[in-house]
Amino acid sequence: MTSTITDHSTNSTERDLITARHLINGEWLGGADTERMNPARPGELAALSPSGTAADVDAAITAATAAQPAWAALPAPSRGAILMAAGNLLLDRQAAIAEDLVREEGKTLAEAKGEVKRAADVLRFFGSLGWAATGEVLPSGLPDTTITTRREPLGVVGLITPWNFPIAIPAWKAAPALISGNAVVIKPAELTPLSATHLARALQDAGLPAGVFNVVHGKGRVVGDVLARDPRIAGMSFTGSTNVGLGLQEILNARRARVQLEMGGKNGVLVLDDADPRKAAQVVAAGAFGLTGQACTATSRVYVTPGIRAAFLAALTEEAAQYTAGDGFDAKMGAVVSSQQFEQNQAAVRTAVERGATLLHGEYDGGTDAGFRFPAAILTDLPFDDAAVTEEIFGPVVAVLEVPDYEAGLAAINDSRYGLTAGICTDSLAFSTDFAARAQAGVIKVNRPTAGLDLNVPFGGVKDSSTNTFREQGKSALDFFTWGKTVYTGV
Ligand code: NAD
Repeated sequence: MTSTITDHSTNSTERDLITARHLINGEWLGGADTERMNPARPGELAALSPSGTAADVDAAITAATAAQPAWAALPAPSRGAILMAAGNLLLDRQAAIAEDLVREEGKTLAEAKGEVKRAADVLRFFGSLGWAATGEVLPSGLPDTTITTRREPLGVVGLITPWNFPIAIPAWKAAPALISGNAVVIKPAELTPLSATHLARALQDAGLPAGVFNVVHGKGRVVGDVLARDPRIAGMSFTGSTNVGLGLQEILNARRARVQLEMGGKNGVLVLDDADPRKAAQVVAAGAFGLTGQACTATSRVYVTPGIRAAFLAALTEEAAQYTAGDGFDAKMGAVVSSQQFEQNQAAVRTAVERGATLLHGEYDGGTDAGFRFPAAILTDLPFDDAAVTEEIFGPVVAVLEVPDYEAGLAAINDSRYGLTAGICTDSLAFSTDFAARAQAGVIKVNRPTAGLDLNVPFGGVKDSSTNTFREQGKSALDFFTWGKTVYTGV
């Protein structure tokens, strides 16, 4: 829900506080020509931002190109110290940033605080890697010869990020890029301009040299597209929808630039008879309804074996009732991000019901007078090829289907174009071990929600969920932002 500004009552001081700007060569630039309304409170302005142009992107890339060599020449521990200081600043500012995040994205305050903390920890984790060795020493078959390997920065990298983790995703892409000696141009999601701006401000206040980290706000098909096509961008890391990601991949591949895509998911959980129905329901509910279901790793389809079906559905319905939808400042489940996403959620549930599905919990015809409140939805009795089972909805909607046994459940989990995360609820070591080996997903969760990962672990998927080449997060994130070099030294 962005639009050109017309009229509102917010005074100029308040407008300044909620205005995101471009950061180009260390300067805050651009007007406040796009408004973002709070999705939980109709009529409340949450953020203002400039609508970037091709010229803004060009200026940002020019600044990054000029700043990158000196940044790469700085000793890695010095680069790391700046990242760690920026992480500490985010922690100091956690409460205020989290409130901005709730207002512009809609998630709960607890989720927003957790996300700001995650961004801070990510900066400190990668900052600490400034002290870590990155190369190897290898033996040579030649006499008096030493072989070493080095990791070199790509140069200037482009980042394009979505609205659902508006500060954590920019942080987990920027931090490995920066610690590796790259300069960055980022285009944050239009719906959430303030969060990425807070990250930029922390980096600048921590002493990051001008031009090393640049932000250009605006439309994806303008700012994002120009960024992807510019030959000075040596690599691009994107998180967002599969359609946009695959389009960017073509552009980047055509000029043989490096590309990393993290895209959609349709994450399934298999619940077996030997599981505890209450615990399984809690695992599924946390994965499906936490973050308003707006996580790429959210649980959206569940396969249950016959012996646990009734008890599991009863427990899941009770869990769903606890996820009251509303304003993130007081509800257990925050608002849906936009009218478009709200209507998408309603249409997905309505269509399934019209085709014969049972709606065990939820509704699909509520209004938006009190914001985009969408109750947690549980669908059953629907065919395996129903769109609610196969297509990403990106809302708090879960479809529960019965399977005769483990093998049928595993086959159903794998019958998807996506492969980001997959889960199993069972007490069986044999089934959980087999599932970990055979489930086609980049992350496997046994008796844990599909959503939510630690910051130090490799993250990414297979099939249409990811490029399935370079992983994000943890030390593996450094691979994408560097290239390898082998050095022979003789004496
Ligand atoms: P989106 O694809 O609409 O937008 C993502 C970003 O791409 C935004 O910054 C947008 O402005 C930009 N963009 C849009 N069109 C573009 C174009 N033609 N060229 C260049 N850039 C363009 O996605 P969204 O609605 O912001 O986020 C929701 C999607 O993100 C869901 O599909 C979700 O699964 C996915 N997601 C994936 C992960 C993951 O790690 N796999 C994490 C979070 C979200």
